Amino acid sequence: MIHSSCALLIIGGGPGGRVSYMMARKMGIDDITLVINEDPTVICSLPYSVGRRLVPAGPEAEMVNLQNPERLPADTLKDVVRGNVIDLELEKKTATIRQSSGDVEITFKKAILATGAMSWIPPVNGVTREEAPLDKSLTWVMVGKDIIPRSSLAENVYVMRGAEDSFSLDRFASDKRKAVVVGTGAIGLEMAEALYDRGLEVILIEALPHAVPFLDNEMTATVLERLESKNIKVITDTQVREVFREGISLNNGEKIHTDGIIFATGVKPNIAIAEGSGLGTEKGIIVDETMRTSHPDIYAVGDAVQLLDGATGFPVLPLIGTLAMRQAMVAVMNIAGMPATLPPATVWGLTAVFDLHLGGVGWSEEIALRSGIETMGITIPYRTREEAMPEGHHGTWKIVLATGISDSFRPGQIIGFQVVLDHESPLFLVERFIDIISRKETVNDLFGHYFVHSPYHNDIMDPYMNLMSIAQESMSKLQK
Ligand SMILES: Cc1cc2nc3c(=O)[nH]c(=O)nc-3n(C[C@H](O)[C@H](O)[C@H](O)COP(=O)(O)OP(=O)(O)OC[C@H]3O[C@@H](n4cnc5c(N)ncnc54)[C@H](O)[C@@H]3O)c2cc1C
Repeated sequence: MIHSSCALLIIGGGPGGRVSYMMARKMGIDDITLVINEDPTVICSLPYSVGRRLVPAGPEAEMVNLQNPERLPADTLKDVVRGNVIDLELEKKTATIRQSSGDVEITFKKAILATGAMSWIPPVNGVTREEAPLDKSLTWVMVGKDIIPRSSLAENVYVMRGAEDSFSLDRFASDKRKAVVVGTGAIGLEMAEALYDRGLEVILIEALPHAVPFLDNEMTATVLERLESKNIKVITDTQVREVFREGISLNNGEKIHTDGIIFATGVKPNIAIAEGSGLGTEKGIIVDETMRTSHPDIYAVGDAVQLLDGATGFPVLPLIGTLAMRQAMVAVMNIAGMPATLPPATVWGLTAVFDLHLGGVGWSEEIALRSGIETMGITIPYRTREEAMPEGHHGTWKIVLATGISDSFRPGQIIGFQVVLDHESPLFLVERFIDIISRKETVNDLFGHYFVHSPYHNDIMDPYMNLMSIAQESMSKLQK
């Protein structure tokens, strides 16, 4: 076995690993090894590259060219090792990297685990091949509780997690006519739109009682209308029972003929290396607010780590790319001797489907209920400009308030926000409510958030005050 050493070992070439590398170089750390096991890409944009809606040049345009990288140092390639870390020894501070040419053992002073997450598929008959081809990609998916090479998936089964998936789905969209997308979260909706844009007939299947699980049921009616207007059928409360060559069968007995099935049914963190080495793990790798793991010289960032939820302090898996990048900055600053911390996280989701924008921040009422948190929801209609202005668009906002007594939150604390808005981006609202929820604010604190009005930009009605007055009235009724 070949032996080498480095000052900083970074495992994973996703956003967390790449930003860790970029920051480390900026901070003057030069002796770095960045281990990557698949071609790096701009992962969030991949559905839009398959559909061509935002990326007309297709998936190729989203590849990160390490020979001539745009946002990384020009000589990045000298530090890149292609392979898979298969073992991490904490005491010796060594990692074993499996490459096609053999294994390499590398000794490090500090390490950052940025191993991300893999697609998760429910344990359905027929999703894997009888005989898997040789796995060249070295990446995995999880089916039920089993981690399998991605190349073991049946020929008509797809996931969307990286460059390889975007290329195979791109080929699928060129050749085929009909697709079933399983899962109606952000990625499921984005893939349904992408395949529709490529001219395919699309059916969406959701196991839960209603579509778009990050929104409460009453917020989803306009989403269903929009999908129906494109002839996209949505089947809810239903699970895929079996995948076969010509299609799928459902647990209600129905059979659907389809050319391919795209599972957008969630992800699981890649924590096998961390677990195997004895680092502290639960849902994900446990880190403190400096992103340090249970070992003083090993940090972890991105989808592989769990954080504390801003609203409640409960452990959560945020699975958010922008957060992975922030975490990478914090980890590297601490490694470089510049103390930095990251506050607890508030999980958000934001997407758009056929120009209907959907945002969810923190807890929905339904998810809170499943976790035993008592809530009250307040929903208000919203128009982006006054009625006399035809450019105005309609939408709906909702805040979720905690009403029970708990050590984790205050009564009246805003723990969730949802928005559905036609044609215009609700980005500013989502960002504002991430802050409100992370800072454990109650409805009364909404006074401290300014509402700016100009006729060109918005309606004169102050929605924050509207929400606040309805919430106060409802809370006082509840307390009587
Ligand atoms: C289709 C899609 C759309 C998304 N849209 C958004 C969005 O709009 N906004 C947003 O903020 N987030 C979005 N996300 C989430 C975002 O992409 C993730 O949060 C982000 O990729 C996490 O970065 P990461 O570096 O932690 O993990 P990953 O991107 O998963 O990268 C980890 C890498 O490490 C590799 N690896 C794992 N184990 C090993 C090992 N042992 N040895 C070597 N390499 C290893 C993995 O194979 C992978 O290449 C989206 C995700 C997807 C899939």
